[in-house]
Amino acid sequence: MGKPTGFLEYERRPIPDRPPLDRVKDWDEIHEHHDEGKIQTQGARCMDCGTPYCHTGMLLGNMASGCPINNLIPEWNDLAYQGRWREALDRLHKTNNFPEFTGRVCPAPCEGSCVLGVIEPPVTIKSIECALIDKGFEEGWVTPQPPAVRTSKKVAVVGSGPAGLAAADQLNKVGHSITVFERADRIGGLLMYGIPNMKLEKNIVQRRVDLMKAEGIEFKTGIEIGKEIPAKQLLDDFDAVILCCGATKPRDLPIDGRDLNGVHFAMELLTRNTQGLLEAKDVTSFDIAAKGKDVVVIGGGDTGTDCVGTSLRHVCKSITQLEIMPKPPLERAPSNPWPEWPKVYELDYGQEEAREVFGSDPRKYLTSTKRFIGDENGNLKALAINEIEWKEDNGQYIPKEVPGSEREIPAQLALLAMGFLGPEDSIANELGLERDARSNIQAEYGKFTTNIEGVFSAGDMRRGQSLVVWAINEGRAAARECDHYLMGVSKLP
Ligand SMILES: Cc1cc2nc3c(=O)[nH]c(=O)nc-3n(C[C@H](O)[C@H](O)[C@H](O)COP(=O)(O)OP(=O)(O)OC[C@H]3O[C@@H](n4cnc5c(N)ncnc54)[C@H](O)[C@@H]3O)c2cc1C
Ligand code: SF4
Repeated sequence: MGKPTGFLEYERRPIPDRPPLDRVKDWDEIHEHHDEGKIQTQGARCMDCGTPYCHTGMLLGNMASGCPINNLIPEWNDLAYQGRWREALDRLHKTNNFPEFTGRVCPAPCEGSCVLGVIEPPVTIKSIECALIDKGFEEGWVTPQPPAVRTSKKVAVVGSGPAGLAAADQLNKVGHSITVFERADRIGGLLMYGIPNMKLEKNIVQRRVDLMKAEGIEFKTGIEIGKEIPAKQLLDDFDAVILCCGATKPRDLPIDGRDLNGVHFAMELLTRNTQGLLEAKDVTSFDIAAKGKDVVVIGGGDTGTDCVGTSLRHVCKSITQLEIMPKPPLERAPSNPWPEWPKVYELDYGQEEAREVFGSDPRKYLTSTKRFIGDENGNLKALAINEIEWKEDNGQYIPKEVPGSEREIPAQLALLAMGFLGPEDSIANELGLERDARSNIQAEYGKFTTNIEGVFSAGDMRRGQSLVVWAINEGRAAARECDHYLMGVSKLP
């Protein structure tokens, strides 16, 4: 612990975001950059407490508490405080293959369980992580490290999101020959075509992919396993297969008017938008674009927030975000104590921008959609919505309509962002993979083996839609199990 009185002397100062009214005019990342001095004083706030929780990665109340990849946070905080940047980065890379992704998009469960958070605002762990890796790239410290020796084993990784990339990176390090198959035209999964530019610029994803290519990993894009190449063929051509295909089936809203023009899944907008930006197109001119429209986003989670941020950058006429749950409390409820993930009201970047542009948080809580209303040409013109209250019924809470609360709100674009139902069926059906009760691939956490020998599964495909940091956790651990399967032992962590 570098500075015993650090947390008494310095206030929490995370890397600031650019002013909302400036950043909605472009697609650049919302974050500013800290100078080294500020990172050092923020590192000095870490108390190196006797029993740190920040790196535990436990599940408490079904939410992550502490870092799911067990980042060695107090160690690199201290090294950052001392300005020993390269050593700090080496410590960070021991547990995290891609700190440039988590340092930008992780919701930082580590900070929710920081011991300092009991009495003071927690240490800015995520900002320090991001600054360390950004400095590492700027200084040229992050270079390709191909393995010295190759084994004769070949592994196919299907899906190139953070789980597939982490698995490929780990297995390549121990010398196996890795081929990553991806059906999209670019590598990265939701890092590329999901999380929008303003949270994670795509050159940052590509930079890591290029590094992995230089280390000898083969990437094959535009190949859907189960379509272009049968999944069974992989079992013949490779010694092991790791399936990391994500949980991409969106939850639909099959109510009246669902088929009207202007009602879309959130991912249709987000994917086309990123694709358009990568191809230098005018994304505001797309038929699905929000420009000049009243936009309603149905769903209050991360995907919904990204739709809000995207619609604002298209210069929508108005934006409303519907959330069926109640507004969270401003402070932790007694039933949600530290070190649990704090379930408190927050303005994420999209809502903060909407408040600056239109004067208020766009979220309407305890609200559900009854039907989509169209005009004579089959185009969406409004939503019928109503307020709800959660009532107990046979031990379960279910939403009940508040009588007389129905009303209409104008909308020419409605975006469904109500979560995901699990992985797609084709590979699972072709290989006869067992599924769990939520339709995810059945592969016990820690082992990651499916019912087919030599076939592993990790990430959202196994655990359901989750977080980048959990995908990295699972990709790394599945790689270790796969290495053990191939070699009889494994020195992977
Ligand atoms: C809009 C949005 C925003 C999000 N924002 C955040 C955030 O801010 N922070 C955070 O931590 N998490 C966020 N998440 C969640 C996070 O992105 C996912 O949990 C994570 O990407 C899962 O990683 P994965 O590798 O398991 O799967 P994915 O990233 O989904 O990657 C799966 C890949 O498999 C490919 N694939 C599927 N089937 C096949 C096949 N048959 N053949 C070949 N390829 C195939 C897909 O094309 C895809 O590229 C967000 C999710 C969404 C949808
Ligand atoms: S990966 Fe996420 S939880 Fe882990 S240290 Fe970084 S910000 Fe915190």
